[in-house]
Amino acid sequence: MRIYGLTGGIASGKSTVSRILRELGAPVLDADVIAREVVEPGTPGLAAVAARFPNVLTADGRLDRAKLGARVFGDATERAALNAIIHPLVGKAFLEKLQALEAQGVERAVYDVPLLIENGLQAGMDGVVLVWTPRALQKARLMTRDGLDEAAAEARLAAQLPLDEKRQHATWIVDNSGELASTRAQVEQVWRAMLARG
Ligand code: ATP
Repeated sequence: MRIYGLTGGIASGKSTVSRILRELGAPVLDADVIAREVVEPGTPGLAAVAARFPNVLTADGRLDRAKLGARVFGDATERAALNAIIHPLVGKAFLEKLQALEAQGVERAVYDVPLLIENGLQAGMDGVVLVWTPRALQKARLMTRDGLDEAAAEARLAAQLPLDEKRQHATWIVDNSGELASTRAQVEQVWRAMLARG
């Protein structure tokens, strides 16, 4: 079973590439989805988060993500405490999903992780796809998509490693600065390369 990391930066086009890969038949596991699953009501993950971060549950016992986000955004200690709870749970759930795919005879899968490189997860991958755009275009798309002004967009970009620094960790780079058709053609080539690796 081979597992390929898919990463990029905020608004670089990762979701777009992930969608194309799924259309091509790639099984894609999504770290953001898993990170939500491990804190669903009734999970040990939610209990651990609620114990460490008081008053982050809604009246019906769900995680209030906006409240939790406000608590950890801009506070490295609190963010590290949250990651220490969430990351091992996500890692375990990811392995379980991988094993389930393997049991079905799946030979390769893609793991979509926004902060793959920031979290040093590239070492565990058989290869890494980086969705890249020039920084100015990344910022422009982020401002348009999320309705942000330039300062807010800069703050979000500053919280991540620049895409240009991530390039050195990539096996394949998808340049998403052009038309979607160009991105699709590049993704098709990457998928063929993954198939060719066996
Ligand atoms: P995030 O990790 O922040 O959720 P992302 O990396 O998944 O972002 P997308 O949501 O796929 O990025 O793309 C960011 C924005 O740019 C979206 O509004 C999307 O429609 C637009 N976009 C993506 N690729 C292209 C492209 N090739 N041409 C024009 N617009 C694009």
